[in-house]
Amino acid sequence: MILVTGGAGYIGSHFVLYCKEHGEQPIVLDNLVYGHKEAVPAGVPLIVGDMGDPKLLDEIFTRYPIDAVVHFAAYAYVGESVTDPAKYYLNNTVATLAVLEAMRRHGVNKFIFSSTCATYGNPVTVPMDELHPQAPINPYGQSKYFVEQILKAYSLAYSLKFVALRYFNAAGGDPEGRIGESHDPETHLIPIALQVAQGKRPQISVFGTDYDTPDGTCIRDYIHILDLAQAHQLALKRLREGADSDIFNLGSEQGYSVNEVLRICEKVSGRKIARVNEPRRAGDPPRLVASAAKARAVLGWAPTFQNLDAIIETAWKWEEKRHY
Ligand code: UDP
Repeated sequence: MILVTGGAGYIGSHFVLYCKEHGEQPIVLDNLVYGHKEAVPAGVPLIVGDMGDPKLLDEIFTRYPIDAVVHFAAYAYVGESVTDPAKYYLNNTVATLAVLEAMRRHGVNKFIFSSTCATYGNPVTVPMDELHPQAPINPYGQSKYFVEQILKAYSLAYSLKFVALRYFNAAGGDPEGRIGESHDPETHLIPIALQVAQGKRPQISVFGTDYDTPDGTCIRDYIHILDLAQAHQLALKRLREGADSDIFNLGSEQGYSVNEVLRICEKVSGRKIARVNEPRRAGDPPRLVASAAKARAVLGWAPTFQNLDAIIETAWKWEEKRHY
């Protein structure tokens, strides 16, 4: 059985659904601060509580035959992490330590960690592989970077085996539209653009048109949420087969500019998307594109959503059916 922390959040809930449909038995621990109970599929136990609470963790590990933890629970607003860093270090780093300690007490030694390309900071080389220097430029990225360091030390000292997965830009939703991306407040490009297309918002701001990129807007690597889910399952399978701890980038290896994303959102929705050019958003690197060659070679990972149109079609389906 797998304990999925943050399993009611955007990426976690898609992993839980994927697991259920691939013969795994997930159980979710989520404080529902940003997660949605509606995102947890029927039949999956949802424990609402704080992952930093050792007593609650002891109860969970005693009650359920858990052999692995897949750890999504984290706060993920970069801007907020700058204005309220304590919230990020305490939750993303310190509470994660409580989970790792509970695992040690209960002899659970497999851990899949939701890391991020934000641990790299500003790109020195593009595409970025796993050996790219790590110099996070905000407390969010640092809070995840610290966990990676803790995992490396635990893995050397104790029996823990971990896989850290550094995601680029997660996007899209369940192709059937049962679950999808729902943040409050929403800050991400694709959902905001599609909500403008729907008439739920008047316009979208384009943050920065003077970057050193072909059309002046930022370039990102968007990867479908189910391809991320698949990578987690492959990583877990590898640990269960006895592999050593490891770290992988997860991205599509293709870069799209903000303007290109908006054009595809217009094509998929069939609607015009009104936009206004705004100054750069603080902390946005101009270009983030993954090399995911290692995940392909070692995990046998093969993303199934090959282009951004297909990814945005699933996001559009969700926006039309959205129920949370
Ligand atoms: N972006 C934008 N307008 C928005 C939201 C995002 O121009 O309303 C840009 C943002 O500056 C970045 C890209 O879109 O260059 C992707 O941003 P998002 O917040 O989706 O993901 P991030 O790369 O920050 O994780």
